[in-house]
Order: sequence, then C-alpha cells, then structure tokens
Amino acid sequence: MSFIERLSCPCTTPAARIELRRSQYRAFLQQVPLLYAVLIVNTVAVAVTHFAVAPLYLSLYVPLLLCLFCAVRVALWLRSRRVALTDDALARRLRSTVWMVSVMGAAFTAWALSLYQYGDAYARSHVVLYMVVTVIGCAFCLMHMRLAALLLTCIVIVPFSMFFAATHNPVLIAIAVNVLLVAVAMVMILLIYYRGFTELVESQIQLRAKQFETQQLSDENFRLANRDTLTGLPNRRRFFADLSAQLNAQLQMQAQTEAAEPLGLAIGIIDLDGFKQINDMYGHVFGDRVLEETGRRLAALTSPQITVARVGGDEFALLVAGTTAYRDLLELGAALCGAIERPYVLPDSSARMSASLGFAHFPEAGASASQLVERAYYALHFAQEHRRGGTVIFSPEHETQIRYLNKIEEALRRADFEREMSLQFQPILDTATHEIMAFEALARWSSPTLGVVAPSMFIPVAERCDLIHALTEVLLRKALDTTKTWPDKVRISFNLSARDLTMSGALDRVIRTTLASGVAPHRIDFEITETALIQDFVQARAALDALKKLGARISLDDFGTGFSSLNSVHRLPIDKVKVDGSFVANIDREPTARAIVKSIVDLCENLGLTCVIEGVETQQQADALRELGASVMQGHLFGKPVAASQVLSLYVKEPASRL
Ligand code: C2E
Ligand code: CA
Ligand code: CA
Repeated sequence: MSFIERLSCPCTTPAARIELRRSQYRAFLQQVPLLYAVLIVNTVAVAVTHFAVAPLYLSLYVPLLLCLFCAVRVALWLRSRRVALTDDALARRLRSTVWMVSVMGAAFTAWALSLYQYGDAYARSHVVLYMVVTVIGCAFCLMHMRLAALLLTCIVIVPFSMFFAATHNPVLIAIAVNVLLVAVAMVMILLIYYRGFTELVESQIQLRAKQFETQQLSDENFRLANRDTLTGLPNRRRFFADLSAQLNAQLQMQAQTEAAEPLGLAIGIIDLDGFKQINDMYGHVFGDRVLEETGRRLAALTSPQITVARVGGDEFALLVAGTTAYRDLLELGAALCGAIERPYVLPDSSARMSASLGFAHFPEAGASASQLVERAYYALHFAQEHRRGGTVIFSPEHETQIRYLNKIEEALRRADFEREMSLQFQPILDTATHEIMAFEALARWSSPTLGVVAPSMFIPVAERCDLIHALTEVLLRKALDTTKTWPDKVRISFNLSARDLTMSGALDRVIRTTLASGVAPHRIDFEITETALIQDFVQARAALDALKKLGARISLDDFGTGFSSLNSVHRLPIDKVKVDGSFVANIDREPTARAIVKSIVDLCENLGLTCVIEGVETQQQADALRELGASVMQGHLFGKPVAASQVLSLYVKEPASRL
C-alpha cells in the first residue's frame, strides 16, 4: 500500500478498508452542502467587496464560474446520494473527490491571490480573512477524508504564507506565520479526530464480526436444539413449534375465510411395536442403528406437506398439512407402517418390527396442539390394542374406549388375582366320535369396581402393563387344579399370551407352575396366537420347543386372522391349528370362507396336525364343516364356557347326551 493510499485509508484488512470508505463517504455526504455553502457564500462576499475595484473578469466572471461549478457539484452530490455504489465505484469516487478538492483549492487560491492587489487595505484584509476562514471551514468539512483535508490545507496555506512572507510587510508576515501555526494546529486536530474516526469504524467492524459470530453460533445452537441427534429428524421441541405455527395459520385462515369445512391439518404419532425387545436382545448400538434406519425410511416418505419428527425413544410424530382426507391419511399410514415392517438387515444382525399409528384430524379431534396430540395418542393406543401394525384415526368413541381401558388398567393393578380371577371351561369335541377331547380354559374377571370384564378387554391391558405373567401363573394354577379333578383322558387347553413366550423368565414361571400342579404335562395343550411368532420368531420357537420337551402340546390359535402363513406352521413344533370363528359365521353360505377352511383342513391333514374349528354355533355350520372334512369343533352349539363346578356334571359324566 502506497503512502498516499495509507493517508487516505489507514486500515490494513480489505474488509476494514471497504468499511472505512463507506463510513467516510456517508459522513462526507452530510458535509457536502455545508462545504459548498461556505465556499459560495465567502466567495460571493469577496467578489462583492471587490466588484468596484477589481477588473470585471476577476470580480464577476471568475467567481461566477467558480460558484456555478460549486453549485453543479452540490447538485450532482445530492442526486447521487441515494445511488448504491459498489466497493470499486466508491473507491473511485473518493479518489476523484481528493483530486477535485486539490484542483478547486488551487483555483480558489489563485483567484484570491490575484484579487489581493486590488482595492484598499480593507479589501485586502478581506481577501486574507476569506482565505483563512474558507480553508479552515472547508478543511473541517473534509475532516472524514484525511488526505483531502491535508492536501487542501497545504494547497491553500503554503502559497498563502509564501505570498505574504514575500511582501516584507511585518504585519502580513506575522499573519502568515500566525496562519501557518493555526494551520499546523488544525491539521493536528484533524489527524487526532481522524484517528478516532477510524478506530470507531474498526471497532464497529469488530463488533459486527462478533455479532455475526454470535448469530452463527446461536443459529447452530438453534439447529442443534431442534434436531434429533440420532436420526437427524426434527425433534420434539421442533415438532411442537411447527404444530403451533401451523395451527395458528389454520385458525387465522379459518377466521378470514369463515370456511366451515376443515382446512387440512392432521397430526400422527407412530410407535414402534417390538423395538424394546430388539433393544433388549441386540443391545443399544443395534437399537440405535435400527432407529436411524427407521428415520431414513420415514423421511423418504415425507414431502413438503408431510413432516416427520422423532418425539421420543421409539416414537415419531407426523404433521400433515393440505389434503388430509381420511382415505389419504389411512393410505399414508399404511405406507409408513409398511416401510417399518420391512426387515432391518444390518451388518451384524437382522430384525423385524411393526408400527402402529394414530392420527388426530384438525379441527374434529381438537383445536389446540395439546388436544390434538392427546387424541393422536388415544388413536395410537387404540391401534395398539385393536389394530396392531395398523393406522387409526381418532374418533370420540376411541376416547371413551381408552378411558375404559385406563380404568381397567387401574383396577387390574389393584386386583387380587387369586380372589377376582376365575376360569370357565368350554369343550372341544371330536364330532366324528362324539368324544370330548379337551376343555379350553377361559379367564373370567369379576372386578369389585368394574364388575365383570371380558378377557378380550383385560388380557391386552395386562399384557401392556406387564401384569400378564402374574396373571398367567394364577390362571394356569387354577386351571390345572381343576384339571386334576377330571378323568385322566380329558385334556386342558390353556391360552398363553405372546409375552409369556417372548419375555425372559416368563416361560420358566409357566413351566414351574405346570410341574408343581401334579397334572401330567402331556394332558395340556398350550394355545398361542401368531402375534408371539411375529414379534420374535426365534425366541417363540425356543419357548415352544421347551414346552414340547416338557411333554405338552401346542395349538396355534386364531389361525387365519393375521399374518401366519402355511409356511410358518410347517416350521413350528405345532400339534393343532385352531381356525378362527370368523370363518365359520357364513360357512354354509359363503364360498370364499368355505374355500379357506377347506384349504386349512387339507393342510392340517397333510402335515398330520389336528384342525379345530372354533365358534360353531349352528347345526348347519357343523354340517357344512363336516362336509369339508373338519371333525374337531368348539362353539356354543356344543357348549358355552361354564364354571369348573359344572364341567363334570354337564360334560364328563354325560358327554354323549350333549351331542
Ligand atoms: P380365544 O382363545 O379365541 O377363545 C375363544 C373365545 O370365543 C372365547 O371368548 C369364547 O367364549 C368364545 N366362543 C366360544 N364359542 C363361541 C361361539 O360359538 N360363538 C362365539 N361368538 N364365541 C364363542 P372369551 O372367553 O371372551 O375369550 C376371549 C379371548 O380372550 C380368548 O380368545 C383369548 O384370546 C383370550 N383369553 C381368554 N382367557 C385367557 C387366558 O386365560 N389367558 C390368555 N392369555 N388369554 C385368554
Ligand atoms: Ca384360545
Ligand atoms: Ca381362538
């Protein structure tokens, strides 16, 4: 950087130089009218006092020309005031200003000194005063442009001092010295002021840099505070912020348009079924990778209208804006749950999960964020209870039902199983031989607060809140105590929950209770549903092997209602398949139901399995089933579930009379 450049702009960094130039320009712009006003007024005053004594060209034309030039410059400056300049243009303009100041300084000095020879002592002293006052005024107006101010002072004061020093007039020499000293003092003041000015600009630059840095840091913090670190998805905080923003927008729009129909907003909560087991079995590192992959799969199905966030350990939330017709939500739910059901194949292991989803639709399910979230959870719990792996959209009936389930949970936690739980027994018959093969034990709960509660209600609740193991133990003991009172050839069929097979320690309790009962294990059929197999096939298979080793037999319950393929039946150590009652209802009228039952009956025959048909209520159904080759049946036609005390009298003693 040259000396001249350093004088005009002392900053070292390019950014600081640019900033200083901008500040100089801004400050100078404000002074420009004042600068030219001083110049024009002083010049006109001198021209007027010399009008009569000096030649016309000096007292009129030259000052007129100079003042006109000044006026044009002011006009130009005022016009260019609002124009945004690039950095280069700004530097050019400041450079040209320095040149212009020098040229004008020289021109005005030359004019003033030429005028000095005319007029009396008063007129002359006016010239001296004009030069001194004008240079001081103009230099102060140029105080933000150090180089211009210094050049102007030199260009005026040096010739001024030399001119008057050369007059040999002691008064004029004294004035020259005096003005020179004042000029030096003025230059020093200007330099000090300018240093302060540059320091101020530099400190502002630093402050701005710090502010920028702070802003960046706070932006980064904001980003981190709103992201889930594992999946990279928006987190709970962000989800709720977005939800309330969307809600506000919707409410505002609604108020403006007074539209009666919904504007389109729904929230969804997705919960992974079986994630806890994966975490327990394969460890947290594997669990984390599964969650990451889940996040990727869900994110792949999102769009600008559909955002997904991770709001809890294995919980994700959806914000759906725009078209939120129930059909679209169900389709979206199916796609998301389907994505999660795909196997997770990771380098060291693989696993499967399913997911349940609950939606709450605005404004039907609520107008506030907390209401919508609460109700999406209602719908989710409903899905988990009744449609595991599926999607449920909130309706008021769900709320009633969930409230009832919560009451069940409360009562169940306080229940005395020994006293409140009992069993009823329903016969399973071979209609070909008219012989009772077994009784299925069905749990009954008589709660002191809720009255009689159906097992289809309380068993899932007991499973969810981990009370099922204690419950199974009590029920199994009671069932086997009753079985002991029957003839040896009558078997007992006992329902096990999926969690009795897959939770560690639970199966040991079942085995211990069985061995302690004194009933020969080979008289026991354990009924399991396919849910256990889906959740954890390996563990369930190991549990079934252990029960088989004990001597018990295994029945696959509710066959045909879920995912069980014929393939899984083949791979498991199963003795019986129980065909769900839903196929029986229209068996005498519906060819599809008949075809399904027929194929299951044939499959069982091929695999050497006993096929039990559940829910047989009418003689026509029984006849239709017999025609399809089924002989073992259970249902109201042959006997409703009855208390232990009635079993012997009703069936064992006189079985043939019931058939
Ligand atoms: P499930 O194992 O499929 O039991 C058969 C259900 O069908 C029983 O309902 C029974 O009363 C009913 N049923 C029998 N015959 C007929 C019929 O002809 N028509 C109709 N409509 N229904 C018939 P229940 O006793 O209400 O039990 C419901 C479910 O609760 C059971 O279905 C089983 O999954 C579960 N459950 C019952 N007791 C236990 C238990 O001790 N432990 C476990 N883990 N689950 C149990
Ligand atoms: Ca059963
Ligand atoms: Ca069943």
